[in-house]
Order: sequence, then C-alpha cells, then structure tokens
Amino acid sequence: MASPEFDLITRYFTRPAANAVLGVGDDCALLLPTPGCELAVTTDTLVEGRHFFPDVDPRSLGHKALAVNLSDAAAMGADPKWITLALTLPAIDHAWLAAFSAGLCTLADQHGVSLVGGDTTRGPLSVTITVLAEVPRGQALRRDGAKIDDDIWVSGTLGAPLLAVEQRYGKATLTRDAFAKAAHTVDWPEPQLALGRALRGVARSAIDISDGLVGDLAHICERSSLGAVIEAARVPASPLIGRVADESVRLNAALTGGDEYQLCFTAAPSARHDVAAIGARLGLLLTRIGSMRSGQGVTVVDAYGASIPLVSQGFDHFAA
Ligand code: ADP
Ligand code: MG
Repeated sequence: MASPEFDLITRYFTRPAANAVLGVGDDCALLLPTPGCELAVTTDTLVEGRHFFPDVDPRSLGHKALAVNLSDAAAMGADPKWITLALTLPAIDHAWLAAFSAGLCTLADQHGVSLVGGDTTRGPLSVTITVLAEVPRGQALRRDGAKIDDDIWVSGTLGAPLLAVEQRYGKATLTRDAFAKAAHTVDWPEPQLALGRALRGVARSAIDISDGLVGDLAHICERSSLGAVIEAARVPASPLIGRVADESVRLNAALTGGDEYQLCFTAAPSARHDVAAIGARLGLLLTRIGSMRSGQGVTVVDAYGASIPLVSQGFDHFAA
C-alpha cells in the first residue's frame, strides 16, 4: 500500500524527466550533463509569512517559487535543465497541491526544465527549489567580471512590484488598474533566461534584481572591487507608477524595489551595438543607466552630477 506521502509525490511531482537518465522515484536522480559545460547550481526558499501571504494563489506560488530560481540561472547566463523541490506542508490539500504543481510544471515545461527529485515533509508551509543549469565552460556571467568604465544596463522597467507590495500592506499609491497589473508582475515574474543566454560573451558581469537595483548592483561593485554611478534620469521607471505624483517615491521604488527579476549587467562601451541588437532581437527594453568607476558602492546622481540620497538600499532579511 502506498503511503500518503508517496501517493502525493506520484500524483503531483512525478513527471517524465526529459533530460535525465533517472528522475523521481529512486534514492537519487541520475543526470547526464553536457560535455564542455559547467553546472550552475542555485537554491531559493519561499516561506509563508515572509515571501508570500497565507492566502496566496497556489498556482502563482508554484510559478514564482520556480521563477525566482530560474532568474538566478538567467543572471549567470546559464540554461536551466533540472530542478529538485523540497516541500514542507502543514497538511495534504489536494486542490492546493494540484494548483501548485500546475503552476510550477507549466513554467518548467515552458523552459524545458525537468523536475527530477525532492523531499516532502510536514510543517509550516515552505518551498525550496534547487536549479541545476548548464553554461559553456568559462562563459558564465559572474558578479566579479565588471571592468572600470563598463556601461551599466538594466532590462525592462522598474518600481511597480515595490508599490504593489506596499499597497497590499495598506499604503495605497497606485490606481486600481495599475495595482492589478503591478500585482500580477509580483505574482507571476518572468525569468529573463533568453536575455541571460544572449549576453554570454557580451556582458562582463550580471545579477538579477531580486532585492532592488541599487542593493544588487552593490554586489557587482563589491565582487569587482569597483564603484558604480547611476544617472537617476536614465532609470526606466515602470509606466504603472508613472501616475504616482511624488517623484521621489517613483525614483525610490525604481532604484530600491525588489521582486523585479530583471537583469542588471555591465558591458564594455564597445559592446553598445551588440547589446542594442540583443534587445531588438528579443523585443526587450535594455537601458544604459550609468557606468562603473573606481571606488566602491553605488552612487545615484541627478542631471547636474550631484548625488541623491536614497531612503533604503534594498531588502535584507536580517536587517535591524
Ligand atoms: P528518501 O527517503 O530516499 O529521501 P523520499 O521518500 O524522500 O526518498 O523520496 C522518494 C523519491 O521521491 C525520491 O526520488 C525523491 O527525490 C522524490 N521526491 C520526494 N519529494 C518530492 C517532491 N516534492 N518533488 C519531487 N520529487 C520528490
Ligand atoms: Mg527524502
């Protein structure tokens, strides 16, 4: 007789594993990595009450738990191939599990990623996914590759997720329509995998904006032993927050808001045409927002070159 745990794994998480010799069901999965590739490995956890509300739509939770991990693979220029899923559940709720699994597996299928294993335990709801991705040897987009005078680029537009989350906590700044659209980008983020792949050999460093542009760019600065200057007027604020009257609220949301999952990357000024061509080919907005300098940390400047103070630097789970 199958136990409820195995029944659950079989029903919701056992799927044909396209890129694997052996998927779910044995003590380990067996994978066949592509010769000449490095494995890029990353894990992210989403915890109830910390990363999502208890009444979250389970389909969007399944999507998001995977999307935030795929976003890390994108930031390395890596191709995600396999995932494992560690799921902690307070109880077995079939409707919830079916929706969660559908959200996760739909995104996995879209990107040709196979669920090859995991662990299922009982406790307060939390979702941990590990992604194994491949990148041709030596071509990963690392945080430590930025060079002095590199241009700093960002994909997409920024700021809507922060204002949407604030609105959920009761601080309403967006119109009702803008809130609905912004909330959608928070719940259904799209990892920029095609962009990451296209930037191999073009960008010199990259990071995904999960904790806010300024805070994440600071990681590139630190690892590359350089400073960064961002021109505030160049930062592409989301049109959804364009109606927010207070300019400093808009700027702050775009510069420090997390949950974006866009890529910030640096590239030599000689690569401007290549970057523009990638944006045109993928239909993505890629904006040059500043450059890498000697020094340390991120400085945001106005049109006159004067530095603009920021309200916060980005999200930190253990900040006081
Ligand atoms: P073990 O006791 O060897 O750790 P488990 O009973 O935890 O094995 O898991 C049995 C099989 O089911 C393994 O192949 C494991 O990878 C897989 N598995 C368990 N939980 C999940 C899950 N949530 N998603 C995908 N695969 C899972
Ligand atoms: Mg186990």
